[in-house]
Formats: sequence, C-alpha cells, structure tokens
Amino acid sequence: MAGAANDRLDAEVAVIGVGTVGSMLMWQLARRGVHAIGFERHAPGHDRGAVGGETRLFRMAYAEGAQYAELLRQALGCWRDLESESATALLVQCGGLAIGDLQGDYIGGLLANARTAGVPVEVFDRRAAHDRYPQHLLRDGEVAVLDRQAGFLRCEAAVIAAAATAEQHGATVLRHTGVDEVLERGDHVEIRAGKAAWRVRDAVLCAGSWTARLLPAPWRAHLQARRVPLSWFAARHPEEFTPRRFPIFIRRTDAVEIYGAPSVDGVSVKVASAVGSSPVDDPDQVERRHGRAEISVMSQAVGELLSGLHPHPVRTDSFTDLYSSDGTPLVGRTTTGGRLLVAAAFSGRGFKYAPALAAVVADALVAHTEVPLDFMSPSRLS
Ligand SMILES: Cc1cc2nc3c(=O)[nH]c(=O)nc-3n(C[C@H](O)[C@H](O)[C@H](O)COP(=O)(O)OP(=O)(O)OC[C@H]3O[C@@H](n4cnc5c(N)ncnc54)[C@H](O)[C@@H]3O)c2cc1C
Repeated sequence: MAGAANDRLDAEVAVIGVGTVGSMLMWQLARRGVHAIGFERHAPGHDRGAVGGETRLFRMAYAEGAQYAELLRQALGCWRDLESESATALLVQCGGLAIGDLQGDYIGGLLANARTAGVPVEVFDRRAAHDRYPQHLLRDGEVAVLDRQAGFLRCEAAVIAAAATAEQHGATVLRHTGVDEVLERGDHVEIRAGKAAWRVRDAVLCAGSWTARLLPAPWRAHLQARRVPLSWFAARHPEEFTPRRFPIFIRRTDAVEIYGAPSVDGVSVKVASAVGSSPVDDPDQVERRHGRAEISVMSQAVGELLSGLHPHPVRTDSFTDLYSSDGTPLVGRTTTGGRLLVAAAFSGRGFKYAPALAAVVADALVAHTEVPLDFMSPSRLS
C-alpha cells in the first residue's frame, strides 16, 4: 500500500535492493513468517550490479579469514534448501583448486584456515597436478590444493529463485522501484520512492554499489564502488573444461592473480583477474568494455598459465560491487537499537555465503537484537 499516511505499517521489514543479499534476505524473512517488502530499481537477477556473468565461485577452504568458516558451513545447507524450495539447480560442487607457491602466504593461509575449520583438502604437487589437471601449467614450487566441496553458483538463477520463493511465501517485491530516501522516524522507518511512501518497522539497506547514497554520512568515506571485469576464453576441446574435469580455481603468482570456472555453455571458459577491479565514481556509468591493456594482461596470463584455451577473449564484460576500506562487509544496525540496518560492502566476495548471512540478519530482525557478526559491525568504521 503506497502512500500510507495512517499509523498502520505497510510491512514489518523493508529490504532496499533485491539483488544478491536482498533477495536472500527476502527469502529468509518469508520462511520465518515475517512480512517483507522489497524495493528493486531493476528486476531481481539483472546484470547492472554485482550479479551477472553466469557463475560465482563457492569455496569452503577460505584463505580470506577463519572468521568466515561458520557462515560458509551454513551457506552450503542454505543453498541446498533454496534449491529444493525453488526446484532450481543452483550450486554445482565440482571442486575447487587453489594454486600457488607451497611456501607462499596464500597457500599457507588457506591450509591453516582449512585445518582450523575442519575443511578437508588434498594437496597435489606439480607433477600430480599435471597428471590430474593438465589444463593448469604449474611452475616449480607450485602446488594445487583441492577443496572437494567447492564449486560454482548460478548467480542470476539464484537471485531470481530467492525473490520468487519469497513472493510465493507472501513477500512483496516492487520491481523497477528505486528508493530515494530512507528516514528513521523513532517507532518506524519511512521509505520514499518517487511520490510514494511506505511505513515499516525496520529497514535493511542491501543496495550494493549504490548503498552509500542512502547510508548516513559517517560510513560514506569508507565505501567505494569498484568495477570488476570478467572475460571468457574459447576452449580448443570444450570437453576438457566441463565441470566434471575442470574445477573452479584461484591462482596466485608473483605477477598475476586469476580465477575461473568451468564452461557452462560448452564453448567458453571464464578466466578473470582477481586483482583487476578499479574504483568507479558512479556505478551507473561503469565502463563495461575492456581496454587493450587489460585484455593483453589476461591474454598473457591465459597463454602462460593454462593449456587448451585460445588466449584471446571471445567475450568480456564488467560489473560492480561495493568495497569497504578494510575489505570486510558492513552488516548490522546503523545505531545501537535503531531500526535501520545495513548489509553491504561484500568487497568482491559475498555471493558464496549470502543466504547464510541473510539468515543471521533475519534472525536478528525477528528477535529485535543486534546482528551477531561482530567483525562486520558498522560501528568499527563510523
Ligand atoms: C564480476 C564479479 C565477480 C564476483 N565473483 C564472486 C565469486 O566468485 N564468489 C563470491 O562469493 N563473490 C563474488 N563476487 C562478489 C559478490 O557477487 C558480491 O559481493 C555480492 O553479489 C554483492 O551483493 P549485494 O547484494 O551487496 O549487491 P547487488 O547484488 O548488486 O544488489 C544490490 C541491489 O540493489 C539495487 N538497488 C541499488 N540502489 C537501489 C535503490 N535506491 N532502490 C532500489 N534498489 C536499489 C540494485 O539494483 C541491485 O539489484 C563477485 C562480484 C563481481 C562484481
């Protein structure tokens, strides 16, 4: 009910931005019987934000920090629940390789975190890796660490499935509705979009790259939208790059850091630079084309590090994600006990655990408590 001027609430919770985290939050709230209204300036699954490019890597052995272990463990179950509730295949656990120097920080940190989290991994030396995964050309001293639970997520399908399942449980998703203002009013929050206004008990900002426009000032200086480029390379023999034979991978060398996923179209293989993101002033104006220099860096990396791919990309594209100044997401209430929450700044890594993170936020909304993810608390940056 738009334009409500009476005391009645239009919904218990407003979710602003029904992208990755917003769609998962809508679904998790709906499962808990909470009436939520979602506002999305495009339609869930669109390719103008952090969703796009067909796949997102899912990993359990996580070099980025042991504090993510529980979320990742929960995420596995959440993805399977969403698949079963939406009757949609979303997660392909084809395994994942981390490739790097056995003595380096990356492999060292990954092995340590996997051990602490109890995530099983197998280490292949250069020769064993060559026998098993001849697509990767390892150098002296490099190893490949296999995480069998890793794989890839079908990103657009996942967001569409979560939003649609939420709607089936009674949630409202307002498509092509961009929110202009979010105002905390003591006992409720007012959401304004164009000439319409809605009243809700609590609101969660999940607006991805656009979050800083709606977030109170203290955090803006710590947030930066970044352009994240993706590229695809044609396989000489596509059967060598199917999910059965070619796990997802991340590879760090002194010169480049690349990652990729098996072919989902039977033609091309996604290989992208893990460090190729760059700041953008306005996420609506992001340059989607790739320049000659970035194409050349990727062509050289593919030519030197992988066997069986034509080293000239057949497709390139670019998306955006919001990064925080410390690389850790911003999730929690913006003021202690307040009604406005933020769940943003996933800094290039948030897809894999999004439904588990959404479950934690949904529980905090139901219980009217703080979000118990202290390391992500917005207060650390305000
Ligand atoms: C190219 C690329 C590759 C990546 N690869 C991986 C990977 O392999 N594994 C991994 O785990 N993570 C990966 N990530 C990171 C992950 O995809 C993101 O961290 C995550 O998707 C961010 O989710 P979000 O909900 O914050 O943003 P989004 O999914 O972008 O959602 C934000 C939504 O808010 C909407 N919105 C914005 N403003 C408004 C408004 N005012 N009113 C209404 N709606 C609004 C937008 O339209 C959008 O739909 C990757 C990111 C990119 C860009």
